[in-house]
Amino acid sequence: MLGAIIGDYVGSAYEFDNTNNYSFDLITPESEITDDSILTLAIADAILQGKPYAERLHYWGNKYPNPMGSYGGSFGSWLRSDNPQPYNSWGNGSAMRVSPIGWAFDTLEEVQREAQRSAQCTHNHPEGIKGAMAVASAIFLTRNGESKEYLKHYIEKNFDYNLSRKLAQIRPTYQFYENCMQTVPEAIICYLESNSFEDAIRLAVSLGGDSDTIACITGSIAEATPDCGIPMEVMSAALSTVPSDLKAVFDSFYSKYRLHLPH
Ligand SMILES: [Mg+2]
Repeated sequence: MLGAIIGDYVGSAYEFDNTNNYSFDLITPESEITDDSILTLAIADAILQGKPYAERLHYWGNKYPNPMGSYGGSFGSWLRSDNPQPYNSWGNGSAMRVSPIGWAFDTLEEVQREAQRSAQCTHNHPEGIKGAMAVASAIFLTRNGESKEYLKHYIEKNFDYNLSRKLAQIRPTYQFYENCMQTVPEAIICYLESNSFEDAIRLAVSLGGDSDTIACITGSIAEATPDCGIPMEVMSAALSTVPSDLKAVFDSFYSKYRLHLPH
């Protein structure tokens, strides 16, 4: 979850001003967390409180209605509704917000069931559900020590994403896509090709497109690698832009699940 927040923070400055330069600045005066982090923390809050995912997404989304980069149009309408209903989305929002589920449950079956539930309240298109399940599974498998080779094989076999492409092939024609099908596999490939947390984030942001969301998803998986080397300075900068009530959710989640911050 920390990796998702850092990826979102770092990517925020480049979502609508893409960079293809790998050596871009990780911290800029414009950088701050966006909808990706707010909704990730809403999912964490739902888990902590044992409340429905939809209820906490609606609560936090309305508490912070104008994040940097803003919410997607359909999700904005869902937030403004008094009786919000799923809208058959295949947008990448289901995958960007799912990371707490990869940490909070003890078996792959539970992780996948909860990922499905977290998606269904808005993103009930099969591709929207699949994106959330694939990312949560990747986090669970990685934090349990599975290799990148196993992860690639598992995700390709169970979710039918093509992870055999290389970033060098994807990069020249990659555009701004907001769907799971053209965000989730690319974000996983960024992780597969990376050799550290910072490398993963740099590969994701410099791919272009929906930079904060790709980096959020890539970072959420990269964080799960032991000793991934999260840069302290970037962590501190990212967390300093999280509002205090959402930071309290973050702290509770890390405390409850005994996750350790870099120090
Ligand atoms: Mg965003």
